[in-house]
Amino acid sequence: CFEYFNQTIQLETERTAKLHYHLKNAIILNELELYFQPIVDPNTTEINKAEALLRWHHDGQFISPDEFIPIAEKSGLIVEIGEWVRAEVVKMISAVQSLNKSICFSINVSTIEFCTNELQNRFLQSFEKVSQSSGLSDFPYHLVTLEITESLMMNQQQAVYDLLALLRKRGVNISIDDFGTGYSSLSYLVNFPVDQIKIDKAFIQQIETDERHKALIEAIVSMSNSLDLSLVAEGVETQEQLDFIKQLKIPAVQGYYYYKPMPTDEFLAIISQQE
Ligand code: C2E
Ligand code: CA
Ligand code: CA
Ligand code: CA
Repeated sequence: CFEYFNQTIQLETERTAKLHYHLKNAIILNELELYFQPIVDPNTTEINKAEALLRWHHDGQFISPDEFIPIAEKSGLIVEIGEWVRAEVVKMISAVQSLNKSICFSINVSTIEFCTNELQNRFLQSFEKVSQSSGLSDFPYHLVTLEITESLMMNQQQAVYDLLALLRKRGVNISIDDFGTGYSSLSYLVNFPVDQIKIDKAFIQQIETDERHKALIEAIVSMSNSLDLSLVAEGVETQEQLDFIKQLKIPAVQGYYYYKPMPTDEFLAIISQQE
């Protein structure tokens, strides 16, 4: 048993080391790709938001972000990857504007990215530099949502707070991802510059099996209404889940029920057909 345990740990360690080694070159080798998952107004089925999600194709294989993001975070590579992601999103915003459409794009920002020096410059520059080269004169900050997690709010650094407040002043939306799964106190919602909450798919996907999850979601909805926060329900897959979301008047739905994450071309094709 111990022998088996040892072997498993060793295999994992080897895989992590191997992935870390290859991840270093993933950007240069063009192995990273950004997918986009539409976020839909359930009443009109109109797409007005989308989340950018990283994909890594390596050696003929697809490696899940749930596996490589933690490696990127531990090694600090996430800083460079995050910059690449923002640049890709700026290109997408520019492409959508040329179609005369307006979509707000969500970007996942790792708490680690907030721990780097000169973060403020990095963020503003990465939007403004790329936007100029993409032909956008004034960068439309209101078309960007940063998805942060509760762990960021817990680390209570004045610098983090200031940066979020600054970005928000420019028009960036701040969203709390995986809401309810962390350990944060609800008071962060009042004390932090926040616009939106994403109800985690773990809650949505359990409403059919456990009535208590419905109560929990109802409580989140009423709280966010009182605090004037906007809401997104994540991971909606079934009609029953959608019906419940609509009954609660949650205005935005992200999930396989409507769309899976998709490559740029596919996303732009769908958007261009939209009224
Ligand atoms: P997340 O931010 O919570 O993203 C939502 C995840 O739920 C995505 O997984 C998405 O594909 C998946 N999803 C959406 N709708 C459904 C549904 O109806 N059913 C199910 N079963 N899943 C659904 P994905 O793309 O595998 O990403 C996993 C995680 O990796 C993300 O979770 C996020 O934490 C991280 N990640 C992805 N891209 C980035 C990035 O650019 N930067 C950073 N820092 N993290 C990223
Ligand atoms: Ca997210
Ligand atoms: Ca989430
Ligand atoms: Ca997550």
